[in-house]
Amino acid sequence: MDNKYDFFVRELQKIRDEGLLMQIRTVESPQAAWIVMDGRRVLNLCSNNYLGLTTHPDLREAAKEALEKFGVGPGAVRTISGTTSLHVELEKTLAQYKGVEDVLTYQSGLCANIGAISALVGEEDALFSDELSHASIIDGMRLTKAKRFVYPHGDANALEKILEKEGKSAVKKLIVTDGVFSMDGDLAPLPALVKIAEKYGALLMVDDAHGEGVLGRHGRGIVDHFQLHGRVDVEMGTFSKAFGVVGGYIAGKKVLTDYLRQRSRAFRFTTGSSPADVAACIAAVKLLDASDKLVKQLWENASYFKKEMKSLGFDLGNSETPITPVMLGEAKLAQKFSQRLFEEKIFGQAIRYPSVPIGTARLRLMISAVHSREDLNFALDAFRRVGKELNVL
Ligand code: PMP
Repeated sequence: MDNKYDFFVRELQKIRDEGLLMQIRTVESPQAAWIVMDGRRVLNLCSNNYLGLTTHPDLREAAKEALEKFGVGPGAVRTISGTTSLHVELEKTLAQYKGVEDVLTYQSGLCANIGAISALVGEEDALFSDELSHASIIDGMRLTKAKRFVYPHGDANALEKILEKEGKSAVKKLIVTDGVFSMDGDLAPLPALVKIAEKYGALLMVDDAHGEGVLGRHGRGIVDHFQLHGRVDVEMGTFSKAFGVVGGYIAGKKVLTDYLRQRSRAFRFTTGSSPADVAACIAAVKLLDASDKLVKQLWENASYFKKEMKSLGFDLGNSETPITPVMLGEAKLAQKFSQRLFEEKIFGQAIRYPSVPIGTARLRLMISAVHSREDLNFALDAFRRVGKELNVL
């Protein structure tokens, strides 16, 4: 092989040797409680499809109608070819549901984070972020010339000290945090962060990817959960998790979304989401607005599963949400556990570095509203067997 590829061959081998190679499995069915994966029917414990909306009839119908009416693609970026009435409707519907002035949608949550953070602050500004921030927040921070400061996980006091010392010379200050930390399921201390942001005149941005559809009234998210309406400047979200579709958004004051429409490169230089996706997102928001049945079911399922896993003796870290990390430590053990579960007809993906710090490998299970009690018991039985076999229990 041509030696210009040597580096990549070596790196891949290193990743393999360290037990960090991600195996991407092929799914041959809709994302639901049970899926067909690599030819095997398995219980799905790894989807962010918290409420089961990926296959909901209302969303499918809305997508089909939009496909007929608007075709498959939006043609060009929204500032050039115009924006469909569906995009406008989604932004209005979501703004009402979230209780904010305005919403700007992006193609994904990652685009929303990198697009917003890199536009909101620049060279003379400062950014403050939790050490366990999602990769898309980190990448957004890397795209700006703002000074960057990272505070210890969930530590509002440490943030305040850094802000006091380092914030003085900055023109604008932006604090960015995940609302629910995606690999651990714990919550950011949002009420304390709000107070600090207000005290130091900083903008506060929260990534609500795992809060919407899960926390707050009818799944309105972490700001609603803590009753902090109007006090968090920027709420970022995604349609790819509880909403069951794909896409991202920024919600907040109209002056900020209007500014982002002009200055956010991940909005200005990429084509908008497809009409079918957008229509399905509108249907998802309407569904949640109308009923909290699925949100309640999600919490009931998650509480049951977590309680039973803890009584089996598994370490579930500090999760406060349906995200259920099963802490295992070593990457190879996590990989082995995941493989054994697959043989037992359970899909529980091993999460390793760089998604989580080295030495904190885990299985990260996602409980959904559409798992039946029978499904959860099936999983618990397998966890008991494999846990004993691999000396985790
Ligand atoms: N933020 C967090 C906390 C996430 O977990 C994710 C999804 N992995 C994203 C942002 C990105 O969202 P999307 O998948 O829609 O790009």
